[in-house]
Amino acid sequence: MNKEKSETKTIKHLSSKDIGMSDPRARLKALSDQGSNVEMDRNIPPQRYYRSGVEMIRMADMYMKDNDLEHAYILYVKFITIFVEKIRDHPQFHMVPSKDKEQNQQTLRKIIPKAEELKKQLLEQYQADFEKYLEDAKEREKIEKEKLKQEELEKLREEEERKNKQAALAAVRAAKAAMSTVVTSPEESKLKKVPSIAQKPLISLSTDIAAQTSKEKRTPTIDRSTKPSVLMSDNLTLRDIVLPTKLMHNFLMVAFGNTMNNKETCGILAGKIERHKLVVTHLLIPEQTGSPDSCVTHNEEDIFDYQDQHNLITLGWIHTHPTQTAFLSSVDLHTHCAYQLMMAEAIAIVCAPKYDETGFFILTPEYGLDFIANCRESGFHPHPTKPPLYMEAKHCKMDVTAAIEVVDLRRK
Ligand SMILES: [Zn+2]
Ligand SMILES: [Zn+2]
Repeated sequence: MNKEKSETKTIKHLSSKDIGMSDPRARLKALSDQGSNVEMDRNIPPQRYYRSGVEMIRMADMYMKDNDLEHAYILYVKFITIFVEKIRDHPQFHMVPSKDKEQNQQTLRKIIPKAEELKKQLLEQYQADFEKYLEDAKEREKIEKEKLKQEELEKLREEEERKNKQAALAAVRAAKAAMSTVVTSPEESKLKKVPSIAQKPLISLSTDIAAQTSKEKRTPTIDRSTKPSVLMSDNLTLRDIVLPTKLMHNFLMVAFGNTMNNKETCGILAGKIERHKLVVTHLLIPEQTGSPDSCVTHNEEDIFDYQDQHNLITLGWIHTHPTQTAFLSSVDLHTHCAYQLMMAEAIAIVCAPKYDETGFFILTPEYGLDFIANCRESGFHPHPTKPPLYMEAKHCKMDVTAAIEVVDLRRK
């Protein structure tokens, strides 16, 4: 059961239609490409990359635990690409504390063989998938042939029946014609029997054929092969992100004082990956300074430490708009970009208590994410509005029973 589960999982999430059916090596290469496609952004301080690296490995470990080998592999490749190839070209590379570099080297030593092993495993699985696909295709062909044969038989049977009916009808007519002179009613019963005798052998013939065809029908009816599992994949599907309903309420409670003073409050959504879903379990409130339309966090190390200690990954963020509606400002879009680049499903929640509104947003994956990642402006600045840069996050699932742990790291 476990094996089957892991198979559907991996297939469902990363292999695209064409890849699934094609050469296993091409499929693996597509995964590696996804991992190694990292652009070093010189505007992002290298320390931030090191920090992301720690989170990347934590995430990958979670994927491994969740038996999601493909996502894990992509992250390992990404990690190796950044820290073996790219980071040295960063103009501020020399500013990274040697402690961080050492730790990173240690991780690399562990990760490289792990990624190699994973690669082998994936290749084996792809090979198996591929063979299964070919087998399914064969089976499908067989069924198709069987179907054609059956249709042929059905046609023959119909033809036979039609002939029989005609013959029976002719017999009735003939009998009627023969008896037409007899008018007395007692003879009528005799008359009725005539065609039925004539029909008898014909009927048994046709039922024989029917029995034969139904027998044949029974064997190949399993039609799974028309929907091979490899076809049910989609690269762009976002996994569900599960949010405790209490989260928003609890956050507004924490923010209440600031909201009354017309100051924004922000928090980090953290959690875990479980059965292929992203589950928000913690709301972390960092040290911060709020204004009516912004919120700046400080001492981010506290957040990192807490996440390290509790093995939590970052799944998005939440902030208030004390007097405005729920939307993402240009600054919000840039803030969110970093989250979504790290985790495609990361969301931005905006609570607008004055309007009793809550927005759940992501940058549009096919446009907004890239656009903002490449926008070099800072502070509030206009962005073109079309096509839309962000949208409602449709992959949020509310959980009324789930608990949320609120961790207030503000130093009062
Ligand atoms: Zn905002
Ligand atoms: Zn911008």
